[in-house]
Amino acid sequence: MFAAVIHGPGDVRYEERPDPVIVEPTDAVVRTVAACVCGSDLWRYRGIAPVPRPTPIGHEYCGVVEAVGDAVTTVKPGDFVVGGFLHSDNTCPVCRKGAHANCLHGGGYAGCQAEKIRIPNADGTLVATPSMPDDDLIPSILTLSDVMCTGWHAAVSARVGPGTSVAVVGDGAVGLCAVLAAAQLGASTVIAMSRHEERQKVALAFGASHIVAERGDAGSTAVRELTEGIGADCVLECVGTESARAQAIGCVRDGGNLGLVGLPHGDLPVNDLFWRNVGIKGGPAHCRAYLPQLLELVLARTINPGLVFDLELPLAAIGEAYAAMDQRRAIKSLVRP
Ligand SMILES: [Zn+2]
Ligand SMILES: [Zn+2]
Repeated sequence: MFAAVIHGPGDVRYEERPDPVIVEPTDAVVRTVAACVCGSDLWRYRGIAPVPRPTPIGHEYCGVVEAVGDAVTTVKPGDFVVGGFLHSDNTCPVCRKGAHANCLHGGGYAGCQAEKIRIPNADGTLVATPSMPDDDLIPSILTLSDVMCTGWHAAVSARVGPGTSVAVVGDGAVGLCAVLAAAQLGASTVIAMSRHEERQKVALAFGASHIVAERGDAGSTAVRELTEGIGADCVLECVGTESARAQAIGCVRDGGNLGLVGLPHGDLPVNDLFWRNVGIKGGPAHCRAYLPQLLELVLARTINPGLVFDLELPLAAIGEAYAAMDQRRAIKSLVRP
């Protein structure tokens, strides 16, 4: 089979690799229908995170089960499935609390931008659709592998609920999905912070009530003006850089909550947040916990998070899929084998 392999900064190749096989009785092998490039893949592509040796890459996928191990009972060959960016057993004490990203027996994958993938813990990771989904639903289903669940996690972590005011920092795919999540969870004010016209359009389609294009102090001031002068009840931080975190802290009201899902770079001023009674929660999304509910919303066409994909390429063009996101020519690239 063929798969994407990262060799170093700016160098992702389409290469022949051994076909994955069932190793553990709890494994499944999935034939990929669609995969995509994640903002977090760009850390290595940009040389910010090291690439010590050529490494298969990618962690977002959906596809059709090709084979299962003897112990797998919930999915079978022929099922269309999606799983989160981390696998989990869905049975350990941590999973039973709904914290699947921290499963005692979970972990990551060895490259999902590939024609086929081995999925460990298949029963506790994969969710099958009732039947083969319509092709136009594939992009939205694929977002459940990461960005839609991650945006949802930001909103849940910041306690977004009916009537709350929400500001979203970051207009990448996760930030846009966080806007969608906030609107779905009943927020009455949803402020998307973005200065890119195309991304503003997606945010409005996802339910943003306001767009703030300013950044820094001017951005925080604009958010306060929309929230009775005090700042948003919930701020969803979907970037992770120090400046994005500072922006989130500047936009949240005293006694409000931050939902952090951007990969963290730099420290938080915890003492300042203590005196302001600001709550902090977040981390990698518990995809498996959110998947059944979000999959139902996608299949019912209630939500359309697939709008975050504005570029679709064959898997063989994986290098261009990365370059387009790196150069911000695309919000998010979908690839099909
Ligand atoms: Zn991802
Ligand atoms: Zn577990």
